[in-house]
Amino acid sequence: MAVSVCFDDLINIPNNRKCADCNTQLIFDKSQLDNPWASMNICVFVCTNCCGVHRSMGVHISQMKSCKYDVDVFNEEVIQKFLERGNLNVNNEFESYMPVFHIHLREAPLSTKLREWFIPAKYSSKIFTEEKLIYKEMPQPVMHQKFVWLNRGFADVDESSKKKKKEVVPSTPRSGSTTGKTIWVEFSQHFINFYKNVSDARAFDIIRNIGDLHSTDGIIIEQYNNGISLTVGNYVLYHDDLNVLIEWCHALRAAALYYATLETPQLSPDTRLQVNIMEGTNLGYAKKQPGGQKMFSAFKRWDNRLWIVGEDDVLYYFKKPNEGQTDLNPQGAVPLQNAEIIVPVKERTTSPNCLQICTPERGYVIQLPGKEAVNRFKEHIDNIVRRLHPHQIVNFSTENLSSVAL
Ligand SMILES: [Zn+2]
Repeated sequence: MAVSVCFDDLINIPNNRKCADCNTQLIFDKSQLDNPWASMNICVFVCTNCCGVHRSMGVHISQMKSCKYDVDVFNEEVIQKFLERGNLNVNNEFESYMPVFHIHLREAPLSTKLREWFIPAKYSSKIFTEEKLIYKEMPQPVMHQKFVWLNRGFADVDESSKKKKKEVVPSTPRSGSTTGKTIWVEFSQHFINFYKNVSDARAFDIIRNIGDLHSTDGIIIEQYNNGISLTVGNYVLYHDDLNVLIEWCHALRAAALYYATLETPQLSPDTRLQVNIMEGTNLGYAKKQPGGQKMFSAFKRWDNRLWIVGEDDVLYYFKKPNEGQTDLNPQGAVPLQNAEIIVPVKERTTSPNCLQICTPERGYVIQLPGKEAVNRFKEHIDNIVRRLHPHQIVNFSTENLSSVAL
């Protein structure tokens, strides 16, 4: 004989007293205006805000009933179904393959934009039930983006006032406004470079080991203007496109987790003061974008340099040697230990046949004489970088990282 069940049996289960999607506390009290909602086919309880998004997906995805006005739909059969499913089991199913670095609505439950992204992703596209989500290739590809750096935390005061760095009082910007300055952010391997202008050769600030940010205050998202902001160290970054922020959040958190488990990245090896250009690999001539900031470098010419990779995995560049000269002082050295080489994005340079070498502090943009030279140069540097940092597929399903060789 079946034991009789009632609605209270459902709401006495702790997990059913928190919204299945945004985790806010649910109060089942019919004397209150705002009561929780139930998805009759999915069998979860959610808050009013999340209910709105459930409805917008259509009844073929989620059929919403009010726990205040429609409570008589909870007959014994429905209650049994909810006892079997409920918030805990449904989340275990619909979020079964959510990797540890993944953004969750409960992190910014007031963000309308995040809610409208998260709930359809969970129940309609069902992306968190895909096993492939937990695997990520490390190191990840170089990422660039222009962000608004919100005026919270430390900021440079107008240089003309000749004051030192001053702490800006955290403030909640007016709705619909973004206060702050635009900066260019470049993320590669274990470091993040912050540039004032996209064409600057030198970063004005650097996070050298992203593994240091693997903590609760490292990479966080917060509600901002209905969307979200992304905190990375001392920087609170905002972008109009929610998908950009989500993508960056995932990439940075995955990297932070990954590099936190590795030894602190080695500092750049010493570079030699004199190099025999007959040793190592001669990559030929390429023009180098002048260093410094845009203001001073915009009118400078790109100097032609000879590029040679030493046996110490350092890329040296030289002025054109005189006839018979073999031992030369390099003009500069780029340790490839922590580098990546990419084709620069169009914001960086519009010149043809360019490559960019990303290092912790600088983005070297060089121009080669033709397409063939670009490919040869890139392939050679890529091979060295991948020997120093082999690609591997990492399983991010738990905090215990395990990697699978490609
Ligand atoms: Zn909710």
